[in-house]
Amino acid sequence: MSSTLSIIGTPIGNLEDITLRALKVLASSDLVLCEDTRMTKRLFDRHNIKVPTKSYHMHSKISRVDEIITLLKEGKHISLVSDAGTPGISDPGAELVSRIRKECAQEIMSGKLKIEAIPGPSALTSALSIAGVQCADFTFLGFLPHKKGRETLFKEITDSERTMVFYESPHRIMKTLDSLVEHFNSPKEFVARKVTICRELTKIFEEVVAGTAVEVKKYFEEHSDKVKGEFVVIVCRE
Ligand code: SAM
Repeated sequence: MSSTLSIIGTPIGNLEDITLRALKVLASSDLVLCEDTRMTKRLFDRHNIKVPTKSYHMHSKISRVDEIITLLKEGKHISLVSDAGTPGISDPGAELVSRIRKECAQEIMSGKLKIEAIPGPSALTSALSIAGVQCADFTFLGFLPHKKGRETLFKEITDSERTMVFYESPHRIMKTLDSLVEHFNSPKEFVARKVTICRELTKIFEEVVAGTAVEVKKYFEEHSDKVKGEFVVIVCRE
């Protein structure tokens, strides 16, 4: 008996940003694993998809993974989506896929279980595609740590020759801009870096703000109503 686990990219805001293949695969799945079933329901309602869903998140117990593996071994077609974008990119999807790859290594090797990618949007690639920065190569940092290792990362961002990209929340964006200003404008030297903030991609209030760290910080200080939503931060050489 063969089975498939489909890892499906879903919209990062605009519910129409989903591929025909993703819609087809979702509609034919026996079960769709979601980060938050309420978020996925909005997508399903928009596209009239009616298949059973179950939540899967960072704190899912081993028993939930065992349950998923049992279903796969029974030949069920399971799909995995996250709240937004590509599962596994800074969300709990990676952990599930890693555990299934480990625990079903034999089935995968023998071709009984296929883990397939149904590609779609990601905030990371969407931001890079419109920022107009060098991105032949870049470093993606995911979410910056809140405490331990945070200073080290800012040092790495400051010293890097490469374009650096990370995700940020509205609660921390001003703090992060403060740190960028501090690191790029130390009393000893000025580090020439361009900061690009891509906010609310694919949504009504989508915007890109670019400039020096000081300029970008000033912009958000003057437009405090825009310190909300979802952010991708890109730092590159000017
Ligand atoms: N898996 C997702 C992806 O492929 O982009 C990322 C999930 S991560 C938990 C969520 C973060 O992605 C947000 O905090 C924000 O930094 C970024 N993000 C997601 N949607 C976004 C959007 N529409 N505009 C800007 N950033 C977004």
